[in-house]
Amino acid sequence: MSVTEILKNHITEYGIEVDEELFKKLDIYASLLKEWNEKINLTAILDDEGIAVKHFLDCLLVGKYADFKKGDKIIDVGTGAGFPGLVLAVAYPDCRITLLDSTGKKLKAVEDIASNMGVNNVQFVHMRAEDAGKKPEFREKYNYATARAVAELRVLLEYTLPFVKVGGSFLSLKGASAIDEIDGAKDALKTLGGKINEINEFSLPGGDKRAIINVKKISQIPPKYPRVSAQIAKKPL
Ligand code: SAM
Repeated sequence: MSVTEILKNHITEYGIEVDEELFKKLDIYASLLKEWNEKINLTAILDDEGIAVKHFLDCLLVGKYADFKKGDKIIDVGTGAGFPGLVLAVAYPDCRITLLDSTGKKLKAVEDIASNMGVNNVQFVHMRAEDAGKKPEFREKYNYATARAVAELRVLLEYTLPFVKVGGSFLSLKGASAIDEIDGAKDALKTLGGKINEINEFSLPGGDKRAIINVKKISQIPPKYPRVSAQIAKKPL
């Protein structure tokens, strides 16, 4: 069975509707992910079931718990091999997606994969989140930010909320630690003007626990945030 056949078998039980065009593009994504991974370390999950479920399905489920509209701007912070940002770009061609990562060679691979899939609603930014979040062209310009497997929630809030417009949301893709991370992020939420709006918990086929935390931005962030990397690492909020 191919990656997308595995995905097709699982997708309906999660109530997601997708068209054939998406599956065609994801087939290209899966084969180029494997090809690129022979040259650089893009992802540890490379078996067909893993790519279908832990990458593609996991990322598609972000859309189920958001309300993406035509023209929305989304930034995926620490996109790595394009998760969830590039999957969302394929699924939501009417949205504009920025894929940001501090590792240039990963972004180059993702750029090649996107171009081979014929995806053109994406922009690639090679920067650290805490540097990009200070720049006027990125600060408070996005309806949504997303991140998966980049840092603990209180650190992620400082990386991502500067990009989000007041009224927009940060969608944090987490595993079983979600509730503990929310507990540890109370000060960061207060300081950065974020409010936990929704926590959507579910399990992937195979049983892995997942949670998508929707953090709504309710007020502007003080200009001193995000702080420089060393300060964030030394003294997380
Ligand atoms: N989001 C992808 C996924 O779920 O497969 C990649 C996860 S990978 C473990 C973490 C990625 O975040 C790496 O590609 C790394 O370069 C990037 N990253 C870590 N800290 C970052 C920062 N401060 N700014 C931008 N990218 C960062």
